[in-house]
Amino acid sequence: MLEEPLSKLSADLRGSVITPASSEYEVARKVYNGMIDRRPEAIVRCMDVADVTAAVNFARQDGLTVAIRGGGHNGAGLAVCDLGLVIDLSPMKGVRVDPTNRTVRVGPGCTQGDVDHATHAFGLAVPAGIVSTTGIAGLTLGGGTGYLTRKYGLTIDNLIAADVVLADGSFVTVDESHHEDLFWALRGGGGNFGVVTSFVFQAHPVSMVYAGPIFWEVKDARRVMQWYREFLPQAPLELCPFLGVKTVPSTDPFPKEHWGKKICALISCYSGPLDQAEEVVKPIRQELPKPILDWMGPMPFPALQGLFDPLLPTGLQWYWKGDFVKELSDHAIDVHLQCAAKAPSELSLMHHYPIDGAVHRVGQSETAWGFRDATWSMVIAGISPDPAQAEAITAWAKEYWEAVHPYTLGGAYVNFMMEEGVDRIKATYRDNYDRLTEVKRKYDPNNFFHVNQNIRPTNF
Ligand SMILES: Cc1cc2nc3c(=O)[nH]c(=O)nc-3n(C[C@H](O)[C@H](O)[C@H](O)COP(=O)(O)OP(=O)(O)OC[C@H]3O[C@@H](n4cnc5c(N)ncnc54)[C@H](O)[C@@H]3O)c2cc1C
Repeated sequence: MLEEPLSKLSADLRGSVITPASSEYEVARKVYNGMIDRRPEAIVRCMDVADVTAAVNFARQDGLTVAIRGGGHNGAGLAVCDLGLVIDLSPMKGVRVDPTNRTVRVGPGCTQGDVDHATHAFGLAVPAGIVSTTGIAGLTLGGGTGYLTRKYGLTIDNLIAADVVLADGSFVTVDESHHEDLFWALRGGGGNFGVVTSFVFQAHPVSMVYAGPIFWEVKDARRVMQWYREFLPQAPLELCPFLGVKTVPSTDPFPKEHWGKKICALISCYSGPLDQAEEVVKPIRQELPKPILDWMGPMPFPALQGLFDPLLPTGLQWYWKGDFVKELSDHAIDVHLQCAAKAPSELSLMHHYPIDGAVHRVGQSETAWGFRDATWSMVIAGISPDPAQAEAITAWAKEYWEAVHPYTLGGAYVNFMMEEGVDRIKATYRDNYDRLTEVKRKYDPNNFFHVNQNIRPTNF
């Protein structure tokens, strides 16, 4: 039925329209999470803003549901929808670094790796995530946490401006002094307000870092976790160690004698002066039991960012849940260790990402992001290459989350959520939710953009 209008749309584009009849369709509809299986009526591969505008107008006029695809990494699969139209921004990959002002203009199809690659050539980095294949667009709009967060803040704290195609097809550039309400909402409010076609970020001088994982046997996990919670608040902000309870993968380059062992990990990045790095990480090495593996050392920042890529290829089964955490009590540690011990697959994990330091310098209502007072963003991720394990990893992540939820602030980082309902979304934004609703009402009153962690235009 849409065949003829779609071919007209196609004629208006520099990019292409992929339909179920196209040979690329089966690949193009896939997202990172192999558990997601949705069949849109069309995928519009956009090359530029004109293509995005044409796609938005087409979908609105035909009453089609729209999903926006950046890097396709969203755990809940919000980059793809059934029946409607996917606005696929993956071809829009340009990165322009201005080394004088240390600013970076980034296309919405860029991955973390694309940005790191371009900025590293100038000895710079934009604070963002920790896996190079993650899309920068979805990551930024949800907040953005990573190895540079303690020192330089969330990715949104480094967002200077954005270009946006709105639901009515109009185009705006937003920053601190233009469409301030929309700029505020974009910084944490996800893909609710329009299609972002360009981001401008502040970059920082980060080039070689002292980084990598240290693993301890599970018998030492309690001690490591207790030590870590005391160490973190005093650690220099250039050092960002995140905590993991996980399993040694049964694959190279991990030493065979440790394959399949449950472990506690600190995976750290020190982005200060390299000649001070050994001194800064000395307490980790001196005050804790002997680790089974210590791979911290100097490396280029993009190498650190790509460290986990081989373990996490596209197409794995994922189910994850999160919460924000203020304190890690002894009791919470015990519950974590009991639950983590039951992980049904080697890749399943629990991480605590630090969001203290520079994140806390920004006020609770200065951006839409709702948890400036938390110490960590926690994620429990059931991950497996085997579709037959989908149920087991889902059940494990849910049970684990139920058990530790009482020890958290609640909420959850929107980028670590599945589709969990409006109450969880409200809990994420706390007092900022009402203002988000107002901005939504102004810029997208008909909730055209609803394939996301949805903020409804009415607050009920
Ligand atoms: C392996 C892995 C590692 C991760 N590591 C981190 C990490 O270190 N730090 C972190 O903060 N998060 C991390 N995440 C979570 C990540 O931030 C989210 O998965 C995020 O949604 C990915 O962005 P994307 O562009 O790939 O998303 P997509 O799946 O392409 O899009 C997700 C949603 O974002 C919105 N969106 C995307 N692009 C646009 C746009 N241009 N305009 C408007 N809306 C848009 C839409 O609502 C869309 O439905 C990780 C995820 C994975 C799977």
